[in-house]
Amino acid sequence: MTAPRPFAFDNSYARDLEGLYVRWQAAHAPRPTPIRVNAALAGELGVSPEALMDEQGLAMLAGNVVPAGAEPLAQAYAGHQFGGFSPRLGDGRALLLGEVIDRQGQRRDIAFKGSGRTPFSRNGDGKCALGPALREYLMGEAMAAFGIPTTRALAVVATGDTVLRERPLPGVVLTRVAASHLRVGTFEYAATHLGAEGVRRLAGYTLARHYPELNGEPEPCLALLKALIDRQATLVARWMGVGFIHGVMNTDNMTLSGETIDYGPCAFMEAYDPATVFSSIDHHGRYAYGNQPSIAQWNLARFAETLLGLIDADENRAVERASAAIHDFVDVFEARWSEVFGAKLGLDGSGDAAADRALIEDFLGLLKARKLDFTLAFRALYDVAAGDAKAPQQLFTVDDTGWIEWRRRWMARQPQRSPALLAAMSHANPWLIPRNYRVEEALEAAVDRGDLAPFDRLLAALQAPSQVRSGFAMYATPAPAEITARYQTFCGT
Ligand code: AMP
Ligand code: MG
Repeated sequence: MTAPRPFAFDNSYARDLEGLYVRWQAAHAPRPTPIRVNAALAGELGVSPEALMDEQGLAMLAGNVVPAGAEPLAQAYAGHQFGGFSPRLGDGRALLLGEVIDRQGQRRDIAFKGSGRTPFSRNGDGKCALGPALREYLMGEAMAAFGIPTTRALAVVATGDTVLRERPLPGVVLTRVAASHLRVGTFEYAATHLGAEGVRRLAGYTLARHYPELNGEPEPCLALLKALIDRQATLVARWMGVGFIHGVMNTDNMTLSGETIDYGPCAFMEAYDPATVFSSIDHHGRYAYGNQPSIAQWNLARFAETLLGLIDADENRAVERASAAIHDFVDVFEARWSEVFGAKLGLDGSGDAAADRALIEDFLGLLKARKLDFTLAFRALYDVAAGDAKAPQQLFTVDDTGWIEWRRRWMARQPQRSPALLAAMSHANPWLIPRNYRVEEALEAAVDRGDLAPFDRLLAALQAPSQVRSGFAMYATPAPAEITARYQTFCGT
């Protein structure tokens, strides 16, 4: 078979970042069979979905044939996991195939997950099971539909291999598209193993790839730190706006692009409670819903440490300046959070910031005290704003004075809304989220019965999450509280 040429690869990472990868090949897949291909994303990349699922496409996406121009490599990175530092993590079950320029002119990574062991595999088998791959697919597409920056699944192909977890499971290769796979952990690896010169090279590469607007900054590394602080504050605020709990915010899972990556033990909150945590390994709630901003700040401090020598030649001054930037995260996050939740309340941003913030917090207080579903409660606010005064009746009793009083303040704050403000409010308050029990149902059908119909239906629903369509009402209903109370997620290994 001649090498397929579906993409015009241009591999800047391989070219510019020697020392931060190992060239490697995917394991052989005995019997590649198609599972799903993301037609919309293929379109963004300028490739036809059919070409990805014909014999050549399958052989490529299973890792059996290296397409022309690809330079598969395992990326090296380090990382703080649950607070402890691992100097050498890296792609243990992933490979970067190469980079392409999409139809918008954006450079994007095309990478495999589950393509076999690499020099970074440690004790892992390098494989990925069907369930976690489909989970990542669903979550990423939901996130994209919310308009939140995210890595996305391009395709899932069964390898014909069996993956041993608690039981034998079908093995797959997930093909992932990302603005890049640069992580805070990449900088930690460079700082640990390559020294100041390596970090400088990586910082220059990152600035050129993700922050071209900072070109010419007199202090590029400090500018990069501040820019990442803003991007990550924005990302976490937006996660929180849809009730998303990442679940494993280790520094190796925090991107330099500001995209969401690694949908392992993530989950969506149902009843509002900042202490919500679903991950089976997060015993102390380190990565609970409400802890995400402070964890992001902590991760950014680890990032700042890798840049110190480049921020100022004087160590004390470098620490002082980096610390000031990290300290500012709190204000940046607060501003971003207020923007996100202000949009959820349909506020136009012209009011008193402190009063608006109090209004948001008081609404969240009502939800918490009444254990109300986060998604439905905010959607009800949109319904009220759009003229359906009855919408909150399923949430608040008619004599709930807390709600009545809050509603009076809210109405007084913003009596009128333009069509544009209403549309933004609908987008900010989706009717649907990937509810945990619906996700599990869809994955169970796929894995246990080879039935992808529930996956397809849920995916179709999530692709337009703010559109109320009667056929998808089952996805808008919260899980029974006892199911949510028992719900646990696992790392996708
Ligand atoms: P993650 O939790 O997916 O972000 O992975 C953390 C680290 O563990 C990364 O270095 C992964 O490459 C590695 N890893 C996770 N699962 C496996 C696996 N099944 N085989 C090899 N390495 C793995
Ligand atoms: Mg990871």
